[in-house]
Amino acid sequence: MVMGIFWTLMVTVSLVYGAVSGRLSAVTAAALEGAAAAVELVLVMAGALCLWSGVLELMRRSGMAAGLSRLLRPVLRRLLPQAGRDEETLAAMEKKKQAEEEKERLLQELKDKEDITLDGTKVKLYANIGDVSDVAEVLKSNAAGIGLFRSEVLYLEKKTYPTEEEQFAAYRQVAEMMAGKEVIIRTLDIGADKQADYFKLKKEENPAMGYRAIRICLTRPEIFRTQLRAIYRASAFGKISIMFPMIASLWEVQKAKEIAASVRDELKEQGVPFGNVAIGIMIETPAAAIISEDLAKEVDFFSIGTNDLVQYTLAIDRQNEKLDEFYDPKHPAVLRLIRFVAESGHKHGCMVGICGELGAETDLTEDFLKMGIDELSVSPSFLLKVREKIRQTDLTK
Ligand code: PEP
Ligand code: MG
Repeated sequence: MVMGIFWTLMVTVSLVYGAVSGRLSAVTAAALEGAAAAVELVLVMAGALCLWSGVLELMRRSGMAAGLSRLLRPVLRRLLPQAGRDEETLAAMEKKKQAEEEKERLLQELKDKEDITLDGTKVKLYANIGDVSDVAEVLKSNAAGIGLFRSEVLYLEKKTYPTEEEQFAAYRQVAEMMAGKEVIIRTLDIGADKQADYFKLKKEENPAMGYRAIRICLTRPEIFRTQLRAIYRASAFGKISIMFPMIASLWEVQKAKEIAASVRDELKEQGVPFGNVAIGIMIETPAAAIISEDLAKEVDFFSIGTNDLVQYTLAIDRQNEKLDEFYDPKHPAVLRLIRFVAESGHKHGCMVGICGELGAETDLTEDFLKMGIDELSVSPSFLLKVREKIRQTDLTK
């Protein structure tokens, strides 16, 4: 193109000069020859372009272009992994890569390390699971136990009540996989945000404060007994503990323990083996936190469910995104309740753990350990981060 303009200008100037001077100089002849060559080049290029676009059009129409592109895309992606991605996607990819590298670093550095502070305080670092399939990741990070097995997941996956055998198989499998490490099974916590149609629960105005968890178990003991039988039977195959959710009153704990005792009697009578099973409760209502001294006399351990404790303490629906700016899990009222529960539990030899999401907040790890929290149970993906934090903490300072 540039050459074309150049030679056109040269020829024009030469012709004007020739006309003016009355003769075609050698310069004009050379210019004409060059112009002819340039025109020829332009024609050849234009022809090639027409031919190429014709071929492209033909390929497009026949579907060959799409097929070829499909074939070449993975090869190009491999050769040029960043081709065709916008900046936002690239930034997200980079972030993901960094997170994976950090995870791998933590895994290599901390997998087999003890959960112990710089001053030698041993901490029980456990994991939360919802399903047998989660145990693999727990084992990978070498957690000391399972602090919350959300057993309702077994119910939510089904179209009808899971049988005793089905539950027994799942609990036994987890107990065996954990090979003697403690597995705390939380009894059914259905209702509120966790609904299964076959329970035929009536629609409620305030489901979070409604018919849920232990309230269902105590009023529909046939469901509760089936689950307890399965848990006790599985306890012959590992170290299983039981924990009751959504406790608000002392009598609920006493009643639940009574039913558990009658299930044990039944198994004994039937000659069915079971192990030594510790009994604990979740502290996830302000009422339970406030009467924790009385509750501590009844059970072996507390596990503080901060997700619900925050919801009920702050009167903020944990499901309501509109309230995000008001939802403050580190609210002083919540932290004071946790401290109070730890003190109350310890007065009566009751182990105190945290299994809500707050337990994974590493900026609070030191505070929790200073409060005397014995066990932190977190989602497997946060386990190594918390282990790293525990190992960097000095409780004497
Ligand atoms: C909690 O409330 O903190 C808890 C662990 O239970 P869930 O989140 O299953 O209600
Ligand atoms: Mg809860």
